[in-house]
Amino acid sequence: MPLLNRRSAIAPDSPAAILRRAIEREAPGARTFETGPETQIGAGIGTGQAKRGRLLESCSNPQCRTGWLQLWRNRSTPLFEGGWTCSPACTAERLREAAVRERKGQSEARAPHRHRIPLGLLMLEQGWITSDQLRSALASQKEHGGRLGSWLVRQHGIGEEMVTRALALQWSCPALRTGSQNGLANPDQLAALVPRLFVDAFGALPVRLAGGKVLYLGFEDHLDPALALAVERMTGLRVECGVVADSEFAPAQERMLRAKYPTVELVEAVSEEALVRALGKAVERSKPVWAKLVRAHDFLWLRMLRKADAGPVPETGDVEDVIATIGG
Ligand SMILES: [Zn+2]
Repeated sequence: MPLLNRRSAIAPDSPAAILRRAIEREAPGARTFETGPETQIGAGIGTGQAKRGRLLESCSNPQCRTGWLQLWRNRSTPLFEGGWTCSPACTAERLREAAVRERKGQSEARAPHRHRIPLGLLMLEQGWITSDQLRSALASQKEHGGRLGSWLVRQHGIGEEMVTRALALQWSCPALRTGSQNGLANPDQLAALVPRLFVDAFGALPVRLAGGKVLYLGFEDHLDPALALAVERMTGLRVECGVVADSEFAPAQERMLRAKYPTVELVEAVSEEALVRALGKAVERSKPVWAKLVRAHDFLWLRMLRKADAGPVPETGDVEDVIATIGG
């Protein structure tokens, strides 16, 4: 059974297809199955980072039968979602619980579809276009595809800023600017907050971080609240979504895609069991001092940090991501 049945409106392709494309493009041959070859990430991290004061902590797997205290085990990591685990089996058990929780959340959190006023109608009502312009742009869209806003700009000389303004009205969100020369303030810093796969597959553009607290996430024509929520849960930042003008979006996304991202392992598992094993392996190998599992659409996103208390934006080199899906 696939991780998610719902097909996202933003990414019509299956998660497995997205994953495969990403792997083919970025790192041919790097595809990792639970039975596949070990990747090199995370070697040699962790054991030196014993935290004093945790020695009397017991294993965080409620089913653990050993009753180990950290004191008796020569491992102080991994820590997953705030709890230490005494053994790979206990790590896997905690990951299984988290995976079940995330997948359950998915079936419960089907937001009712909110009807939005069509963009063309909205612009017509505002008096920004005429009904003739709308009719002919709709006809072109029907014949050639593409977006209505682009047709209005191309065919009728409607200002792009009017289209962006209309999208912002339609989604009740701000219009975001990506800065002068379509640049982002600091792509490498922002790359530590949103995995490249999500920037690429979901068109989610981290635009800027305000005051170390609020992350502005830009989209082209459809906001993606589910992805925003995932990033919010993972980073602890407040995430505000907005629309970005067409002409700014593409170059900014391209620039963002070239940024330096944390190490990522992409996993296409054949079953939930395989998924849990793959995640467990990654956690045991990396021995993170902080780790969390969050679902983003059809993907489970495991983030592991080598340093705790890294502040709102961790150093790229201290982060390892695993993005997993159950293939079909
Ligand atoms: Zn245990």
